[in-house]
Amino acid sequence: LLGADGRLGVTIFEEMTGLAVSRGAINLGQGFPDEDGPEEMKEAARRAISEGSNQYAPGKGLPILRTAIAAHQSRFYGLEPDPETEVLVTTGATEAIAAAILAFAEPGDDVLTFEPFYDSYGAMIGLAGANHVTVPLHAPHFQPDPAELEAAFSPATRIVVLNNPHNPTGAVFGRDVLEQIVRLAARHDAIIVSDEVYEHLVFGEPHVPIATIPAAAERTLTISSAGKTFSFTGWKVGWVSGPEELVARVRTVKQFTTYSSGTPFQTAVALGLGLPDAFFAGAASTLRHKRDILADGLRAAGLTVYVPDGTYFITTDTAALGFDDALDLARRLPELVGVAAIPVSVFCHDEGAKRTRSLLRFAFCKREDVLEEAAGRLARLG
Ligand code: PMP
Ligand code: GLN
Repeated sequence: LLGADGRLGVTIFEEMTGLAVSRGAINLGQGFPDEDGPEEMKEAARRAISEGSNQYAPGKGLPILRTAIAAHQSRFYGLEPDPETEVLVTTGATEAIAAAILAFAEPGDDVLTFEPFYDSYGAMIGLAGANHVTVPLHAPHFQPDPAELEAAFSPATRIVVLNNPHNPTGAVFGRDVLEQIVRLAARHDAIIVSDEVYEHLVFGEPHVPIATIPAAAERTLTISSAGKTFSFTGWKVGWVSGPEELVARVRTVKQFTTYSSGTPFQTAVALGLGLPDAFFAGAASTLRHKRDILADGLRAAGLTVYVPDGTYFITTDTAALGFDDALDLARRLPELVGVAAIPVSVFCHDEGAKRTRSLLRFAFCKREDVLEEAAGRLARLG
């Protein structure tokens, strides 16, 4: 259920973070920042706790947060979800993904994802008893081949799960890809579940939600989270927005996955979503600078670097250094040089794992001195 090699019980993130901690290695594996987000959001959470905002929130989320999510969708993308019926607060994007897949996928249905895919998609499609059909993303640009994308659809296709910007490759999909997905989803009457948790962490053109492509909105659930945008991954506040009938089904599942989500954090995230544009632009440009530092360091260490257009992650090819099994290398890397990373093959099924066998993912959401130290250590690999 969880890994390409069939391991149960512990995700790759737990395994690699565990190794990093036990070896005292720099953790460029699991994607979490080593500096917290805005002080005013922390203050808002503290205030909410001291003022008594500590009991269950309404199942669909505090009104102040649902309103802030709708306002954010309008301000950045011109989308106008109704905060009463078309927005649902979840416990991280993880719960939104789980509830959306469980709400729509039945045994026998096909659920499409690109490959490599974020690990929870595979797990949830498996729990739903549906078939997981994948479309490969090819180096160096990690865009799908239009013919392979078309061939993956069938009358059994119920959901297309899109992740844009894409973890682990850092790819941002072109408008042509988004338009093709919408056309194919419409032809096969499939819904689109779009995980856009890295929407503000893009280094070129502004993010394009697939829901803004003509004819997409009526069949699209858009998922995001405060974790990445605001550097509070531990708060686990996420959300989903889309047409009322689709959101209502997700809400039905959410009643039984968690019922409701952390009350004081919701108030703080509402404040964050209303921060000025300069905050969002600043976060992206700081992260872009970190990307460049790590990309230079990884190149200097002899790895082939696929420079990402978004996310926290750089995918590299370790074959240039003579390694052919990045899973094995990732398990030894903390001891070898004191750095942890994530092999891309764990985000794949068997065929995809073969194709991505030598690829290794590094997170760059870390302080500059940490990235430089990690790059220096990796240079000892060559
Ligand atoms: N989707 C993707 C693509 C992710 O990388 C992550 C991990 N950060 C999540 C979902 C989970 O988000 P959250 O921590 O808000 O549950
Ligand atoms: N999304 C984070 C990553 O890809 C990790 C989240 C988790 O630990 N499940 O690194």
